[in-house]
Amino acid sequence: MTIAVLGGAGYIGSHTVKYLRAAGIPLAVYDNFSTGFRESLPDSPELPVVSGDIGDAERLAHFLRQHQITAVLHLAALSVVAESFDNPRRYYHNNFVATQTLLDTLLTCDIRQLVFSSTCAIYGKPRQLPLTEEHPCQPDSPYGCSKLAVEHLLADYARAYGLRYVSLRYFNASGADPDGELGERHQPETHLIPLLLERVRQQQNGLNPPPFTIFGDDYPTPDGTCIRDYVHVWDLAQAHQLALDYVHAGGASNIFNLGQGQGYSVREVIQMAEAVTGEPIPVAIAPRRSGDTPVLYGSGAKAAELLGWRPAYTDLHSILTSAWRWHRQ
Ligand code: UDP
Repeated sequence: MTIAVLGGAGYIGSHTVKYLRAAGIPLAVYDNFSTGFRESLPDSPELPVVSGDIGDAERLAHFLRQHQITAVLHLAALSVVAESFDNPRRYYHNNFVATQTLLDTLLTCDIRQLVFSSTCAIYGKPRQLPLTEEHPCQPDSPYGCSKLAVEHLLADYARAYGLRYVSLRYFNASGADPDGELGERHQPETHLIPLLLERVRQQQNGLNPPPFTIFGDDYPTPDGTCIRDYVHVWDLAQAHQLALDYVHAGGASNIFNLGQGQGYSVREVIQMAEAVTGEPIPVAIAPRRSGDTPVLYGSGAKAAELLGWRPAYTDLHSILTSAWRWHRQ
């Protein structure tokens, strides 16, 4: 019983690999290393790591058969909202078209258990908060649309072909693993917390980085900046194990928000970064960024009830402290 982690070299994937290995679950990783890093995965004879694309049906089928895969975690996707406006073709191709190839390949290999990485970006502008899974989905970006299209695909494949899946709608993944070995790193980096902490590090190293850019301070929020629900990556990893257990136990296909039900504004995150690092962070205000929704936070109550999900990092201070421990190194 080996679990395939597709996209296991990415930020959430590599933390999930570490978490599941610690729980003694046999894994094999498949990643095209377009955005993930080989060095985020351990060198171990017990962890096969194969370089390949989920859209390459032949290579993928060989990998699935060779490692006798029984269930799949699918985290292989592009996820930069702003980039998806410039290059929707790439986003639909990677996130949707290649996922259909993946699903067909799973069925060919007689694998019918899947955990899919979805996103709060599929909701669009909230009509009520916190967002629950029943909230209508009207994504504002090609990225969100590509993920919503996969959710439709999954529902139809489940009905027609007996696939059983869990879709995990992540809110804002953040933080670093408790050992400080892995952390948040993207190439190029676009995310708030790693950019802030990298700026602090440069400042502490005697460099003179430009002020930190806030994308818009004229949103309809108390301080004018966007509000997001930050969820620790280790808690997301925990949810993957619970989702696998749920699918293994015969649970019906289902969708779960992974949110804490509480949001923080960009300015609040900056203040917390100042408190945790002990450094002042000068800011400059820039225009709004394409695709940014003013307020997003979601209820994780359904995941708590049906999966038994219990986030350990429930406040912004502990999330930033763990992120800073990794960045400082
Ligand atoms: N943000 C910002 N400056 C930056 C990066 C991000 O003001 O250099 C804001 C961004 O506009 C959003 C929030 O921080 O409102 C979170 O952005 P991030 O890219 O981390 O996650 P997203 O919510 O887009 O997935």
